[in-house]
Amino acid sequence: MTDKIEHVECLIIGSGPAGYTAAIYAARADMKPVMYAGMQPGGQLTITTDVENYPGYPDGIMGPEMMELFRKQAERFGTDVRYGMITHVDFKGKAPFKVIADENHEILAETIIIATGASAKWLGIPSEERLNGKGVSACAVCDGFFFKGKDVAIVGAGDTACEEASYLAKICSKVYMIVRRNEFRASKAMQHRVLNTPNIEVLFNTETDEILGDTIVSGARFKNRETGELRTIDLKGFFVAIGHHPNTDIFKGFLDMDDTGYLKTVAGTSKTNIEGVFACGDAQDKVYRQAVTAAGSGCMAALDAERYLAAKADQAVA
Ligand code: NDP
Repeated sequence: MTDKIEHVECLIIGSGPAGYTAAIYAARADMKPVMYAGMQPGGQLTITTDVENYPGYPDGIMGPEMMELFRKQAERFGTDVRYGMITHVDFKGKAPFKVIADENHEILAETIIIATGASAKWLGIPSEERLNGKGVSACAVCDGFFFKGKDVAIVGAGDTACEEASYLAKICSKVYMIVRRNEFRASKAMQHRVLNTPNIEVLFNTETDEILGDTIVSGARFKNRETGELRTIDLKGFFVAIGHHPNTDIFKGFLDMDDTGYLKTVAGTSKTNIEGVFACGDAQDKVYRQAVTAAGSGCMAALDAERYLAAKADQAVA
């Protein structure tokens, strides 16, 4: 059941750095963007503490505060930020596209910018949730610096885990890599790099029994999956790198995506396979996944949307 149909020029779905940046550009281009910010406005940065690698903040900034500033900047130029979800989309045919917000509000959008991001996968043990942001992190590039000269562990055996273990090894004194099977999933080149880094110790056949610490991480207890033997290691940081899940499920069947759900865009642009639908940020980027790269791609999406609308208007006149 829908209430009334609303017609918008530019609908932005998602509110991380990509979505807000798209909103700033779209609003300044007078596209009167409407943003559906989701259930956790601000996205992954709202579960990060200090952000020290975003240019323009020489003293660093807390992730939630940074997203608050992004929101204010988007609203200053007229973005209509709404706290809700786009629950259904229909990209069949040409624009305007029909979408449903919050199960019952129907919107017709001339352009759509998808900035729904990705969510880190977690182990799902209670101590991981309790110590999240207090030594537990899913982003070595964001948080590794806080453990300079300290011992840390990283769980995972894919390319991300290997890349992040190598990154951490340059900063930390020792990196324990926790691999659940007796082999890596990562490419041979990445495995080689990890195995040839002297301060990375790989513990195969190992799972995390518990992360230890009252208010901050002080260590972790690991279990050997073959022998059942428990081992406690003193640690200051505990990283989880077991993959991400792009938040793209509602676009299945309409938009081209890879086999893990990342949206495909035309190289060098934010264009999806549907004209008028653009994608930016982590929903289409499994390689860089940084706030600053997401913001840059949000800018691209707004410019692409603006140019698409201008070309359409020109065609209508001709
Ligand atoms: P992957 O899905 O490739 O790997 C996830 C890893 O986490 C696997 O080794 C998996 O173990 C492990 N894992 C999953 N769940 C658990 C759990 N509950 N406990 C312990 N371990 C667990 O994810 P990535 O993020 O590494 O990579 C995603 C994609 O991005 C890949 O295609 C990768 O090649 C690509 N990528 C490319 C990069 C580059 O080219 N520079 C950099 C980073 C990523 P198991 O093996 O046992 O299933």
